[in-house]
Amino acid sequence: MIGQRDHVSGAHFAFTDRWGGVSAAPYEEFNLGGAVGDDPAAVHANRGSAARSLGLDPAHVVWMNQVHGPDVAVVDGPWGPAADIPSVDAIVTARRGLALAVLTADCTPVLLADPVAGIAAAAHAGRPGMVAGVVPAAVEAMVGLGAEPARIVARTGPAVCGKCYEVPDGMRAEVAAVEPAAYAETSWGTPAVDVTAGVHAQLERLGVRDRQQSPVCTLESHDHFSYRRDRTTGRLAGYVWLD
Ligand SMILES: [Zn+2]
Repeated sequence: MIGQRDHVSGAHFAFTDRWGGVSAAPYEEFNLGGAVGDDPAAVHANRGSAARSLGLDPAHVVWMNQVHGPDVAVVDGPWGPAADIPSVDAIVTARRGLALAVLTADCTPVLLADPVAGIAAAAHAGRPGMVAGVVPAAVEAMVGLGAEPARIVARTGPAVCGKCYEVPDGMRAEVAAVEPAAYAETSWGTPAVDVTAGVHAQLERLGVRDRQQSPVCTLESHDHFSYRRDRTTGRLAGYVWLD
């Protein structure tokens, strides 16, 4: 169900955990991902109950086709029934009441809102997306619609932590060359990447000051889906919307 929830000046932020839904193993229980092999009826039911528990109309939640890239789409309503959902890793809206959703299982879900301008964004920042700059691209799109970085509230959700996300030494060097804050070491002393730290460093440089980070590491928490731990598994969702 809803694991974490927060609101600031009419901007709402929520992140799910893995329990309370109807998906069968290995997606048990609250899988919200539609492209992981789970029964579509179970995903539909879970998305419906998540939306209702947040006070949202399930038909007014916008999902994206995430591809680990830097591209952003501006949306002003739900996709039509026959729409080609764009392959982007960030969506931005100026429509109050329209909820934006991001799916993750170890990648960093990033929720952004400028409550004064009425602009919200959701972004999917895994290692490639963080390096490619999907979060700065989302902020730039928000600013293009009238947001100001100093007013943006940022929340990052449950994600694999820098002490668990082991990578080859060369990969860590490549990531750190782009974003030094992402340089990390596992708890067992090998090269690692801290994607969430990289995202927060990017936001800080852009002037986004009101930032909070979930304390949950998906790989360590059995209350959350983790792709690196389980491979075939469900997806968590983050939701952002404005009153
Ligand atoms: Zn961890």
